Amino acid sequence: MRDIDAARYVGSLRSFDATVAMINTSGIIASYPTRLPFHTPSASLTGDSLESIIDACHEADIRVIARMDFSKVRRALYEKHPGWAYLRRDGEIVDEHGDVHVCPSGEYQQACAPEIVEETITTLDVDGVFVNMAGFQTRDYAGRYHGICHCSSCTEGFAAMFGLALPNAEDPDDPVSRRHAVFKRRTLGELDERMHETIRRVRPDVAIDRSFEDGRGFVRQESNTALDRREDWPYSASENTKWVAASFPDMVSSNASVDFVDYPVRHVAVSPHLQRLRLVQDLANGGGLDYYVIGRLDDHADRSGFEAVREVFRYHADHERDYAGLRSRAEVALVTGPWANVEEFRGWFRVLTEHHVLFDSLMLDAITDDLLERYRALVLPDHQAISGEQAQRIDAFVHGGGVVVATGRTGLRDEEFEPRDRPALGCLGIERVREVRPDLRGAYLGVGDREGFPRLGETDLVFLDGPYVDAGYRADLKRRMRLVPPGPFGPPERVVLGPATEDPGLVVGAFGRGRVVYVPWLPGTLVHRLGHENSVAFAGDVLEHIAGLEPLGGTLPPMVEATLMDTGDGETLLHLINHSGRAGDRYVEPVPIHDLEVVVPIVTEPTAVTGLVSGHAFEWSWSEGGVSIRVPELGLFEALRIER
Ligand SMILES: [Zn+2]
Repeated sequence: MRDIDAARYVGSLRSFDATVAMINTSGIIASYPTRLPFHTPSASLTGDSLESIIDACHEADIRVIARMDFSKVRRALYEKHPGWAYLRRDGEIVDEHGDVHVCPSGEYQQACAPEIVEETITTLDVDGVFVNMAGFQTRDYAGRYHGICHCSSCTEGFAAMFGLALPNAEDPDDPVSRRHAVFKRRTLGELDERMHETIRRVRPDVAIDRSFEDGRGFVRQESNTALDRREDWPYSASENTKWVAASFPDMVSSNASVDFVDYPVRHVAVSPHLQRLRLVQDLANGGGLDYYVIGRLDDHADRSGFEAVREVFRYHADHERDYAGLRSRAEVALVTGPWANVEEFRGWFRVLTEHHVLFDSLMLDAITDDLLERYRALVLPDHQAISGEQAQRIDAFVHGGGVVVATGRTGLRDEEFEPRDRPALGCLGIERVREVRPDLRGAYLGVGDREGFPRLGETDLVFLDGPYVDAGYRADLKRRMRLVPPGPFGPPERVVLGPATEDPGLVVGAFGRGRVVYVPWLPGTLVHRLGHENSVAFAGDVLEHIAGLEPLGGTLPPMVEATLMDTGDGETLLHLINHSGRAGDRYVEPVPIHDLEVVVPIVTEPTAVTGLVSGHAFEWSWSEGGVSIRVPELGLFEALRIER
């Protein structure tokens, strides 16, 4: 806010074709002269007022989202209200540079925050509300872990809810810790409800972030990097956009490309090629564009990403009508949720993407019968926590003709992560789980019968690591591949491959009119962690040849990501994204890919295929299998509009 100039601020937004700005208004720091005693005004209100900035934005047809943060208060406020603070187990508070962490159970978030929201949205003519760092935060900005909160509100609240003392640590294997997770979820749910109710009562026109109970508004997320995170997850923006677009079709997915490297170095940008890639993934999956830069655009220290970001924003502005009301045509849904096994999920995400099986991602709790009607198959990647209600729904889906591919411990716990006596999903045909063997490092699966495994033509073994579900199955299910337990793996002269057991590596069969494919171990995790062809080939064959999920035809290489959408005006939009700019851990200009062919399953003959990026008309031919399109050259991406 220091010396901010409304006209220059709006000019900088317009140079990006931005239509929405998110500005800090409230919480830790009030960016306007607040009247509330528990709200700390900014010491930098030396430029144009927030009111005049919002007015100037509105004159330029730019909406403004109020960004608030109630996770911390300034030290002076804490000293007046020590009971608000988040308390570590050792009784210490967390004070980072004079910002003291506060607890969602405490009075500040419970009572003061809704008052601050009300003052903000009645004082300022904002169009949306986003609350940052909502929830029970256990880490500070330096990444230090402080454990769960032991403040008096948490102690008393947890005792009142469950009659238990707080657990010492977060541990899903500890029953008390699992109760604590339920306590946190209920506390936050009630807090959200109160906050959203306040907003709807005072300003029903305002868009709310994560108002899932309304199914309207928007969901803001981030694709970011971190100094200590070496993992390269190139599909972050697609992942974030997919679950919102598919699970909450009336909400806007706003996944931000975070400009900076990490919190400690917020003034330096990541590779412009990475930013462009993220933004293109946002668009290709039916989301909006979102660019997160610390401070302002007009005095930003590192502008190296600006032109790349502008380019994608300009493209979107030029083709706004083509992107309005996109709905995915994918018939496969990869299931996720708050208890998801992220590694297993991402492994299957990668396999589906690299094999060009069109797919969406669905939040398990949001699945309804109506939503399921859009899909032919569900993939459940070691999704342990499934409620009885959702299990029945999935069973009915398969019984009625759907396909399910499930791995690992899927359905072995309830929605509160409590272990179940019987697996939730009847369709998997598991009669009894004898044991989840925790670690089968050194074990293999003998491929045996090769039917359905063309990608494993030259290998007799698939390797395992991690847990294996030792179970008894319904007699009508076909058990395939045989487990070879771990044997000696060193010294070399003692290495022998032991005999195979009767334990299967894959179980397939029918359930009603549907088809079930169950993998009692975690191939997705191996794909994600290591990506060896041995695991990828197995998973690719499971999808295509065992489960029968047809990929797009043609010659797309694994480094081309594809999505297929119906547009609001009844045409079809095929996105092809070129990932060849991923060079190890670096992101560089992608290498153009030449002479691609892609076959899209469309039942009526097109009249034209136009590239929205290149502006070119594309050659195509049509047969009963669909439309085959020739792409002479693919740069970073192309959006092929198929008109019929
Ligand atoms: Zn607390």
